[in-house]
Amino acid sequence: MVSQDLLKRFSAGFQRFQKTWYCPENNIYEDLRAGQNPYALVVACSDSRVDPVLLLDATPGDLFVIRNVANLVPPYEPDSHHHGVSAALEYAVRHLRIEHIMVMGHAKCGGFTSLLEVSHSDDEFLNIWMSLACRAKAEVDRTLPDADPDERQRACEMWGVRFSLDNLMGYPWIREAVERGELLLHGLYFDMGTGELLYFDAHREAFVPMVEACASAGASSVRVRR
Ligand SMILES: [Zn+2]
Repeated sequence: MVSQDLLKRFSAGFQRFQKTWYCPENNIYEDLRAGQNPYALVVACSDSRVDPVLLLDATPGDLFVIRNVANLVPPYEPDSHHHGVSAALEYAVRHLRIEHIMVMGHAKCGGFTSLLEVSHSDDEFLNIWMSLACRAKAEVDRTLPDADPDERQRACEMWGVRFSLDNLMGYPWIREAVERGELLLHGLYFDMGTGELLYFDAHREAFVPMVEACASAGASSVRVRR
């Protein structure tokens, strides 16, 4: 039997949210009620361990977030189908005039595990969704055919971020905004194993440390490089 305690937990959580963000005088929602002006759009994984609002210590109104399995951006396909990611991109770029888009990959991603392992033939949607990352798998098969599974998965997760950035540039209104200097695209990777945050350096075509791992468990200081 499923536990009935969840609503109590949600209620307590919402009360803490009220106390922090909504109830104090001059609270942030006095402005946010009039509209949002987020400083970035983040494409992140649905994974419960990688909430970008928590990872980036953001506050309400800061981030416009798209989450899906494996933080994938589909290619630009202006057909009559229901494209949830593309609709959110369009709203953020064309209506909110967002200035930054971050694709945030992460280690230990179940989506990429399913892509690299034998296919689950009885999944109705997951295989088709993850086929968006088939270019990432092809790169790993080409460059790391004999590497151990952890190394292959990590590489595949990083290629996934890179190909999502490529796909973003396939949207004409994103490409035009980038070319006008009004929009910047970024690739991030949260290494859950080490606690590092990596940044995709397009010139070096490599992920480089942006925030190093904690020196030790409970360390109070981290060095920020950017
Ligand atoms: Zn994931």
